[in-house]
Amino acid sequence: MRAQPVASHFIDGRHVEDVAGATIEVVYPGTGEVIAVLHEATPPVVEMALASAVRAQRDWAALRPVERGRILNRAAALIRARGEELALLETFDTGKPIQETRVADWPSGADALEYFAGLAPTVTGETIPLGRDMVYTVRAPLGVCVGIGAWNYPSQIACWKSAPALALGNAMVFKPSEVTPLGALKLAEILVEAGLPPGLFNVVQGRGAVGAALVTDARVAKVSLTGSVPTGQKVYAAAAAGMRHVTMELGGKSPLIVFDDASLEDAVGAAMLANFYSSGQVCSNGTRVFVQRGLKERFLARLKARAERIVLGDPLQDETQMGPLVSAAQFDKVTGYIARARAEGARLVTGGGRGLGNAGWFVEPTVFADVTDGMEIAREEVFGPVMAVLDFATEDEAVARANATGFGLAAGVFTADLTRAHRVIGQIEAGTCWINAYNLTPVESPFGGTKLSGVGRENGHAAVEHYTQVKSIYLGLGPVEAPY
Ligand code: NAD
Repeated sequence: MRAQPVASHFIDGRHVEDVAGATIEVVYPGTGEVIAVLHEATPPVVEMALASAVRAQRDWAALRPVERGRILNRAAALIRARGEELALLETFDTGKPIQETRVADWPSGADALEYFAGLAPTVTGETIPLGRDMVYTVRAPLGVCVGIGAWNYPSQIACWKSAPALALGNAMVFKPSEVTPLGALKLAEILVEAGLPPGLFNVVQGRGAVGAALVTDARVAKVSLTGSVPTGQKVYAAAAAGMRHVTMELGGKSPLIVFDDASLEDAVGAAMLANFYSSGQVCSNGTRVFVQRGLKERFLARLKARAERIVLGDPLQDETQMGPLVSAAQFDKVTGYIARARAEGARLVTGGGRGLGNAGWFVEPTVFADVTDGMEIAREEVFGPVMAVLDFATEDEAVARANATGFGLAAGVFTADLTRAHRVIGQIEAGTCWINAYNLTPVESPFGGTKLSGVGRENGHAAVEHYTQVKSIYLGLGPVEAPY
């Protein structure tokens, strides 16, 4: 087995195995080969993870934030020093091309560790003068947080959740997606090597039922999920029963609006990044590309030319720009959407077929034009390399149609007229927006969605609010005036 970890779980500073749990086969999407076999967490394993997190969190919260930050910075340095080894593991786990995993996945996780290591010591409260008396506030940790990951950015998701949680004095029990369970185990090892006390970052493997067991446990103060809307609805409801804090990073069907006056090359390049990076398996993708009529045919011609140059292939080769989809199930889902888009009358501009023979789950970069708002391809999240181009005439029309969706994760606008850019973005119902750029998600910037796409924000100062709670302390400085 090319990527067999020491054990399935990592709890209280050590590897833990319980072969009584159902098996999870880890498949390398490049070839379909099984590269590791893991076991789902049994109830005793879940119990061990939660109990050790509760034990560890109290002492951790009592440390100075700079001391916590020092450990996270050391972990970030280890990640950067092992960049190549970690990129390879991420490629095995996800099938994403090594040229992406070298620059995007673990490096952005290291950014998060560094950012929150530096930010945590700056988190302070208020003093509120009340004449003689006063109130002061502190931002207290929440306690034990549960992180549940999706399969598209497994290591980045593990880092984006654990970095603010740990920096701000919480413990985290993390359940990766059963499709990509390897990266989080590596993160747990690295954190302990960097000096993180045992129990503060525990990894348990499993499918939805293991996630559900974590979400409903009375010891859990917060749940942060990255996943689909239907899962988010279930997890949010389960968390609500215990009045737990939540962050929900869910799916989208985001608009990218391109006006006639936009730079053609930039807009085409951004539309490609917004649909083909990670084989289109990115939650914030701009999958509804609204192009103003005056630019439409030139846009499509340039897009077709550039899309057909994308190097699809073996994810382990340096020159490969696009790899396979993550699994057979995802391949079937995406090719089903393509077939139905054709049947509904969308015009296939390029792609649409299976790439590279029958090994692995490759889909060609695909562009549909003449897509209308009612078509399935314009309404549902495909999560594959499939771009829908819709055309529009006026600014007001573009805004109205862009907002006519239940999702609200992301949006972009391309235009040379910056006044218009701000005006349009100001009206778009989405949590994460770009002007003349797309899908850049630096850790300094808050990330998250509105409407069905989620609640809460990851990254930036905004994340502090989601891993701490305000505690106010009234300080009486005079005699107590009682009316009886
Ligand atoms: P998914 O919803 O199928 O699974 C997400 C995670 O939830 C997995 O770990 C799964 O095991 C777990 N889970 C499933 N049922 C559960 C339950 N009842 N209780 C607790 N946990 C449960 O999503 P996926 O297919 O892994 O990922 C793709 C989806 O994630 C897409 O919709 C994508 O848009 C979304 N996504 C969102 C973001 C974001 O930041 N907004 C980022 C990446 C992916």
